[in-house]
Amino acid sequence: MKIRCPSCDAEIAIEADQRVLICPYCGTPIIVEKSGTLILERIIPDLSREAALDTYRGFFPDGKIGDIKLEYIPYYRLEKNSDVIFIPGKMGLPPSFKYHKPQGDRVTLTENFPAPEISLTKALELAKLEKVENASVIYTPFYTDRERNIYIDGVTGKVVKEPVVEGKSSRDHLVFLAYLVAGLLAIAIPVTWLRIALPLGISFIPLLRRKLG
Ligand SMILES: [Zn+2]
Repeated sequence: MKIRCPSCDAEIAIEADQRVLICPYCGTPIIVEKSGTLILERIIPDLSREAALDTYRGFFPDGKIGDIKLEYIPYYRLEKNSDVIFIPGKMGLPPSFKYHKPQGDRVTLTENFPAPEISLTKALELAKLEKVENASVIYTPFYTDRERNIYIDGVTGKVVKEPVVEGKSSRDHLVFLAYLVAGLLAIAIPVTWLRIALPLGISFIPLLRRKLG
């Protein structure tokens, strides 16, 4: 099987099951997909770990923080009619990743990162595109705390997903507040209070009579 290097256009012979390789002519790492051959690139993280930690600590004023680690998330970069669309190549990410655009200086990938979990075919489908002029996979740096669902862009420092807020406890507070307001109203408006209390009291009379009798 033969492919063309998307970087130097040289013809390269590959094994049928080979997916990731390095072009023997120009040294560019390439990923071979059913719907095309792509260059693999990486964005250099500009944000220091300390700066990312500062942002991260801001979410936990009580100081009970976990830890963040630098990891790379692959994005398909699809170019058509000078428009660039990014599709995350990893599964199980928060939905807001769809709207995140990787930024920063790109370099040729030299590390051995795992291939994207989503195929180029699927990425094209998600982008609602049949063909593109240029496609590449860009490994984008994030400082992440996966447990708390926090992803901080390793270049811009932008937070992709806010931490999950405990919905239950805030609802409990609302219920408590509603009872409090109802109670205060009942005290403040004696007439209304009587209107509720009287029929209730009256409805108990037959019960009491039966018990006493
Ligand atoms: Zn090449």
